[in-house]
Amino acid sequence: MNDCLFCKIIAGEIPSTKVYEDDKVYAFRDINPQAPVHVLVLPKEHMDSANAITSENAGNIAAVFEAVPKIAAAEGLSDGYRVINNCGADAGQTVMHIHFHLIGGRKLGEKIV
Ligand code: 5GP
Ligand code: ZN
Repeated sequence: MNDCLFCKIIAGEIPSTKVYEDDKVYAFRDINPQAPVHVLVLPKEHMDSANAITSENAGNIAAVFEAVPKIAAAEGLSDGYRVINNCGADAGQTVMHIHFHLIGGRKLGEKIV
């Protein structure tokens, strides 16, 4: 796990623009935003991807989704937002520490789902 970019960001070894933190969750602004609000929300405990979710660690994912509406409210996303997880190569996952893209602040248009 020592070589994980997002573990280093959570540890403060690499700077980030933090927007939320609790004991299980860390959230920061994406370096390459796709919308006026583009926040990455992730569990502090490392897991590679959605494929690694189990009944033992699912509480960390629940904590992410408890944080999402708080972050959305703080970011002023009262008209809605999208939460996206890329899992694996076909989805274009580039950082192998599970994360959820919280995107909003404009009409999101072109839908994949
Ligand atoms: P993925 O493609 O894995 O779903 O998303 C990875 C995201 O992490 C991308 O949107 C990318 O812009 C973002 N990202 C990659 N490296 C950094 C970084 O060092 N800092 C921040 N804030 N975001 C990063
Ligand atoms: Zn990690």
